[in-house]
Amino acid sequence: MNRIAVIGVGNVGMAFAYAAAIKRLANDIVLIDANAARAEGESMDLADAMALVGPVQIRSGGYEQCEGARIVVVTAGAKQMPGQSRLDLVRVNAGITRDILTAVMQYADDPLYIMATNPVDVLTHVARTVTGVAPGRVIGSGTVLDSARFRGHVAEILGVDVRGVHAHIVGEHGDSEVALWSRANVSGIPVAEMCARRGIAYDAAFREKALGHVRHAAYEIIERKGATGYGIGMSLCRIVEAILHDEHSVLTVSCPVAGHYGLGDVSLSLPCVIGSDGIEEVLDAPIAEDEQAALAASARVLGEHLAAL
Ligand code: NAD
Repeated sequence: MNRIAVIGVGNVGMAFAYAAAIKRLANDIVLIDANAARAEGESMDLADAMALVGPVQIRSGGYEQCEGARIVVVTAGAKQMPGQSRLDLVRVNAGITRDILTAVMQYADDPLYIMATNPVDVLTHVARTVTGVAPGRVIGSGTVLDSARFRGHVAEILGVDVRGVHAHIVGEHGDSEVALWSRANVSGIPVAEMCARRGIAYDAAFREKALGHVRHAAYEIIERKGATGYGIGMSLCRIVEAILHDEHSVLTVSCPVAGHYGLGDVSLSLPCVIGSDGIEEVLDAPIAEDEQAALAASARVLGEHLAAL
């Protein structure tokens, strides 16, 4: 039996739960929220959908329901308000994260923890400290969504299928994130070369515009609909899929990075190999000097927030 516990059933938690349920990633999904009535209503609604999909058990309840969970997905907390940065949320959500994990640990036996609550890199680091589990067993959703947005944007500009675009956003899931242009390619052809073939100038303005699109995407969506859901829901689904199917997929998840690229004791996203035990390997392949400097700057931003906590 694969049991997934989802803590926090707001926009993000339910977008994930819905996607995981209709993809039948697990046969038992437990919904937990400080607002118990909301969790119960969501479980009743989602259970109705499952009658048209297949035998996936959907339940709500207290933390005792985490017993036997293989994966615990944490999406509970305050969310970004228009104009607010993810790091503004740090204090309130760090407290909520500590309380939730302490409760989960009373019942769940060494599950994999997947963190989505913002600021996700800081909270991934907090979660690892609170749980004390091996580094690869606490996984932040990090820049999985940002990399997806980046790939989608590059694919659109170059007029190619997004599935052939291999490009990563690393660092903070937030304003200091870094695009790894030096490694971005379309089925092995560097993006710079693809741009030349398409008559597109591959200059600093082009690169800044593309990264700006990724950095501002959440703000743009929040301004219009008040929250983001589907993109992060599917990103979480992708991580869970890689774990439950032992895929050894490469995803840019947030994890402790001390020792990689000379970075200090923070968590941020780098391309990682993900399988049934969580993060198997951090792929710290050589990157360009300016990318390495930007990554160090991103780590400094996160280090300052951790220190402030
Ligand atoms: P939401 O307000 O819709 O849902 C949050 C839920 O958490 C609510 O149902 C609330 O009752 C619950 N909650 C709050 N405190 C709790 C506690 N102590 N215990 C249990 N449940 C509690 O918010 P949302 O839009 O779903 O966003 C949730 C979080 O995810 C936010 O921090 C947001 O910034 C973050 N987020 C992350 C990403 C990402 O890429 N990592 C993307 C979007 C949103």
